Amino acid sequence: MALRVLVATATALLAACAADDGPIIERQLLAMGTSVDITLHAADPRAARNALAEIEAMLRQYERDYYAWGDGELARLNAGLRDARTVEVSAELAGLLEAARRLAAQSGGVFDPGIGALVELWGFHTDSGAQARTPDPADIAAWLAGGASIADLSIADSRIGTTRSSGLLVDLGGIAKGDAVDRSIGILTRYGIDNAIVNAGGDLRALGSRGARAWRIGVQSPRDAGILGVVELDDGEAAFTSGDYERYFDDEGERRHHILDPTTAYPADHTRAITVIAADGVTADAAATALFVAGPERWLDVARSMGVRHVLRVDASGRMQATQAMRDRLELGDGSAADIIVVSSEG
Ligand code: ADP
Ligand code: MG
Repeated sequence: MALRVLVATATALLAACAADDGPIIERQLLAMGTSVDITLHAADPRAARNALAEIEAMLRQYERDYYAWGDGELARLNAGLRDARTVEVSAELAGLLEAARRLAAQSGGVFDPGIGALVELWGFHTDSGAQARTPDPADIAAWLAGGASIADLSIADSRIGTTRSSGLLVDLGGIAKGDAVDRSIGILTRYGIDNAIVNAGGDLRALGSRGARAWRIGVQSPRDAGILGVVELDDGEAAFTSGDYERYFDDEGERRHHILDPTTAYPADHTRAITVIAADGVTADAAATALFVAGPERWLDVARSMGVRHVLRVDASGRMQATQAMRDRLELGDGSAADIIVVSSEG
């Protein structure tokens, strides 16, 4: 079995034009297994330096605390859940768990951060993914019979417990990057920085604009180094992509990747990539994962119930589908315009 793990840049920042509201500062940080690139206009360079230092410290702490298999806060919560104990967590983690549970319910269960034990069975829980392999069918069957879900979490202020006796392991991997990007944007705003972009391995959120123009991003193609098209982001908007090319291995010709369908316990095999634009990173991140799993029959309904209007989907054969709202904003490369199928009439 050949194993390949790719860290992808799902969207790429396009070249800049000149700006008049302060010099452009660019900083690259390595955090959460990816490159976090921050570009900002600094009317006050000292405030910018302080903001970047605070973001870097936050991300360092974040990758410890929000990694289910580490030694931080989420790992401690999971240890408690394993023993059916109630655990007191920080207000921040409680808030993210609350959001995760709400988004999972809105997704109809295709997004479910309660599937940590399944992620572990597949071996997609380590940074390198070097342990990834197709699980024993008996283990898959046992996991399905257990039916662990984030819905089994009881949240009373900051006291987190579970209504089940075993099997619940919370993995925030489908939403944590969105939360970390939102927190980074929050720090920039607090330092009075109004024009910036935070790009965590192609998942990003914008503030303000780049000079006189909107921030422009390229949506990466799931099968080659090119881009599918270009989108302009409004103030505060986030664009997140979930793809089958980010972490995967080959199992006798089958692509086994890290986005798992909780109803089959296997990687969803009908989709190559989903790109979502939403008003914040947490929603965009959760929705991209959810719509990836939702598949051809359900993705539009799930987008509606999650309150997401801008979606681009690339299916398993490479065909592109988009909501009308996304189509209206996407500048496609030559030749691909004819290929995209608009699948909703809402504007
Ligand atoms: P990435 O973080 O690689 O950009 P995603 O946001 O789609 O991609 O998150 C994928 C991660 O989310 C997986 O590595 C796993 O930890 C977790 N995950 C996988 N399937 C699901 C699912 N159906 N619901 C919630 N989380 C999931
Ligand atoms: Mg996600």
